[in-house]
Order: sequence, then C-alpha cells, then structure tokens
Amino acid sequence: MHILIEKNAQRSDLARDILKKIPNKKTTVITSAASPCIAGSVSDQKRSLLLAVNKGSAVREFRRMDGLVQRREYYIYFAQNCPLDCQYCFLQCYGGHAVPTVFVNQRKILREVETVLRNEAHPFFHTGELADSLVFDPLIDLNAKLTALFARYPNGRLELRTKCAEVSRITAATPAPNVTVSWTFTPDTVIRLYERGTPPLAARIRAAQKCQAAGYAVGLRLDPIVACADWEQTYEKMVRDIFSRLDHRKLESAVLGVFRYAPALEKVIKERFPKSDILINEFVPCVDGKMRYFKPLRIGIYRNIIGMIRRHAPNLKITLCMETPEVWESVFNK
Ligand code: SF4
Repeated sequence: MHILIEKNAQRSDLARDILKKIPNKKTTVITSAASPCIAGSVSDQKRSLLLAVNKGSAVREFRRMDGLVQRREYYIYFAQNCPLDCQYCFLQCYGGHAVPTVFVNQRKILREVETVLRNEAHPFFHTGELADSLVFDPLIDLNAKLTALFARYPNGRLELRTKCAEVSRITAATPAPNVTVSWTFTPDTVIRLYERGTPPLAARIRAAQKCQAAGYAVGLRLDPIVACADWEQTYEKMVRDIFSRLDHRKLESAVLGVFRYAPALEKVIKERFPKSDILINEFVPCVDGKMRYFKPLRIGIYRNIIGMIRRHAPNLKITLCMETPEVWESVFNK
C-alpha cells in the first residue's frame, strides 16, 4: 500500500502506530494534502492512505430537513474518503482527491466534540458524512474513545454510520446508551452491482447483531434504495432477513432514502463504471440541484418499504433522508 504522510503528521504517536500496523508499504512524505504527489485515477487513489493533520474545525455543522422541520446536527471530521468503492458515492468527486485520509491529531478532535457537549443542551453528532464511520477503526480506534466521551455526556447523541462488518473494537468497549451504530443495509444484488468492496448483507446483519448483543442501539439506514429490477421482492427479502436476525425492540430508528446524485457525479460514474446501469432510470432535477427518480416512483418505493418494515416492527420510528416536504406528506399522511 502507498502511504502518504504529511510532514507535520510524522511526529504523531497515532501516525507511528498506524504505520506499524500496515505491512508492505511504500511511504512518501508530502508537505500538505493538496500536494501534487496525489495523482492517479480515483481507483489508484482509493488504494492509498493519507495520514494528515486536521487543521480546521473538527466539528462541523450540518442542517438537515426532517419533513418540514430543519434540524441542526454536527458531523465529526475525523477522516475523509473511503477505501470501499460504491458507485453512487459522492466522495469520488469531492474535496480535490479520493485518497482515504485519516486525521492523526485525535486529541484535538475529541476536545472539540467535548466543548460542544459541554456547551449545548442536546447536540446530535454523527461521523458518517465524509467517510464510513467504522472503516478506519482497525487503524485508528477512534470509536471506543468517542463512546467513552459520550458516556460522560448523556445530553448528547452520537450516530456511527457504516457498511462494515468488523466491530470488535466497539463491541469490546463499554456501550453508551446515547451512541447508536447504524448500518446501511442493501440487498446482495445491489451490493454486487454497485457497492464494490463492501461486506455482503449477511455480514452486515451479523455485525449489527453483535452490537445489539454488546448493548448498543442499532439503526437501520436503507439509503440509497436503488430501483433495480424486481426491487419490491428484493427489498422485501432483505427486510425479512434483517428482522429475522435483529431484535426490533433494540432498534433506534429506520431512515430511508432513494438513490440521488449531483450532476458532477454522473460524469464520474460513466467514466469509472461504463457498464453500470445505475443511471438507467429516468431522473428529474430537484430543488437542491440533485437528480432523483420521479416523485410517484419515490413515493411508491417509500410506502412499500415502510409497509414491509411495519409488518415486523409496527412502532419503529421511520424517517426519510433528503426528501422534499411534499414527499414526506404523501408518504406519511396519505
Ligand atoms: S461505504 Fe460509504 S463512504 Fe465508503 S464508498 Fe461506500 S458510500 Fe462512500
């Protein structure tokens, strides 16, 4: 593996630990993450790793529409990009390069999170905005530290969002009631077609089971939902598989979102995955500039999948991700 390390990250203990954990590496010292050393295709870049210092704010505000209500959330900027390779991932064309990057100055990150926890009544954080929450855990072991921090601040909430199956570090930590681990669950046909390098559905369910057994609340994220051929049967089987293995009473909530993309991503998908049919449906531009399936198809998908979930967990809280108020209205107040 090619490791790029920023000059000022070299002194960090965490950087030294990470380097010790990676065999067969070539290491290049660079002056900054904007270095011209970062070259090659997106696929090449995804096979590298950058150890960097977080110089800006590690806690970033995010405003999310929850139906008609706008909610303020924070995401923790602990890493950027991902070694996994989902065709629909916006990180392929975000932030100048696609090299999986971890920030080695964790004490600063934890300090900034603690400041918000101390000063705000009920802050909500997540870590899955610019990277998978667990994918770097074997190298950086941040989630156990975050969990211990949130255990001391019951006023805050943290959600870890992942597709990963490796959960040994967080299951070994003492769970905190205000920390939820949420999995993006996808049918295996969709995983095989569009989520290269990610664990199969059964492995994700097993990992979620382990977290429930360890005492964590688990969240379901069906996002993105892809309108593949036979999507009704495919998603129905997946929902059955999930609820046959997970305890629905220990689920925190379910979040549903259909596949959507910004126009810049279309070009990347067509270049990197020329045989992909993920863009084959008709898409319409929406007010946020993203392309989505036609509204009636989206509403049909949501109503159907919510019905499937309700058969197993009648009282589970279900919300939509990045949807318009009209779609919320049609789905929940039909
Ligand atoms: S797992 Fe998440 S962050 Fe990683 S490539 Fe897929 S969508 Fe992107």
